[in-house]
Amino acid sequence: MLLSLALAQTNLPNRMHTTAISVKAETTSTEHNANFESSKDRSVSEIRVFVRKKRLRKPELVTENAVKLEPQDQKLRGLPDIEEFAYRKPSDNLSLTKFKPISKIDETKVKPPPNWERVLEGIRKMRSSEDAPVDSMGCEKAGSSLPPKERRFAVLISSLLSSQTKDNVNHGAIQRLLENDLLKAETIEKADESTLKNLIYPVGFYTRKATNMKKIAKICMLKYDGDIPETLEALLSLPGIGPKMAHLVMNVAWNNVQGICVDTHVHRICNRLGWVSRNGSKERTKTPEETRESLQLWLPKEEWVPINPLLVGFGQTICTPLRPSCDICIINDLCPSAFREATPKKTKTKTKTKVSESQVSS
Ligand code: SF4
Repeated sequence: MLLSLALAQTNLPNRMHTTAISVKAETTSTEHNANFESSKDRSVSEIRVFVRKKRLRKPELVTENAVKLEPQDQKLRGLPDIEEFAYRKPSDNLSLTKFKPISKIDETKVKPPPNWERVLEGIRKMRSSEDAPVDSMGCEKAGSSLPPKERRFAVLISSLLSSQTKDNVNHGAIQRLLENDLLKAETIEKADESTLKNLIYPVGFYTRKATNMKKIAKICMLKYDGDIPETLEALLSLPGIGPKMAHLVMNVAWNNVQGICVDTHVHRICNRLGWVSRNGSKERTKTPEETRESLQLWLPKEEWVPINPLLVGFGQTICTPLRPSCDICIINDLCPSAFREATPKKTKTKTKTKVSESQVSS
């Protein structure tokens, strides 16, 4: 009986650390009175049973302790930290993220592309007639007759309106704003948004730009007494103002050159000429910002301002987005992209053949 009692104890669950069990069996038990009749003097016997317990694996039960895991345990088990769901206020330096350097290239190891000076000279020759729209209607021409403070604001608004818009369309909008005395922060702030929208139409995204004009005017009145911000970071924080515009405004309005103004023409032509590449590879740059960074690595700083109107005008007249006029381009012997994007050869199709046959028969 005593042995069975001891064995029964060993089968109890979760007995992890018991190494000995003391069992006290009283001889008054009716079942075993006969066996112990001869030893009546042993009213109580004490037997110590030593049992080596096998260490049992912890049961996989969801207990209270399992629910209340420490953060460290949660990480170990691959659970997300609650911090990952927390709302974070946008950084105050958000504008700087737009201007974050993309590449990490050792500038001292970047060599200028071969023949770049001859190429630049050739483009200057082709541009000497100054017959491109940018020469008379570019952003930097806006409000040229106004006093300095108003002129700076006019350049800022002209830059805002210039994205996705041709120079002549933008110029027309600026002229209408000027005629209606709506090219100053104080008058724009008070003006009706629909009036601004009608005046700037048909510039690209005129509705959104009219809204941004109002916002910019309000900020400039509140923080800059109707003038414009003096730093690149502050300009980038204005609604609708990106790096291309901010650099142009810094150059034109404040005569403070901090970077090249790279628009779609400068971006395209620099890639066609092989002047820029992605992170030091031979790959073309994908965005104007990448182009700006790559170009700034080697182009002398005195060229940072004139390169924009030079290449914009070149892109409007000869090195156009579609079918560039490589045949009249005087640097076609130096350009790695010469004639590669020229007018594609016409291929004869069945339809065309039928048309020509019908023409012959008629
Ligand atoms: S050769 Fe053609 S692609 Fe090259 S710069 Fe001249 S126009 Fe542009």
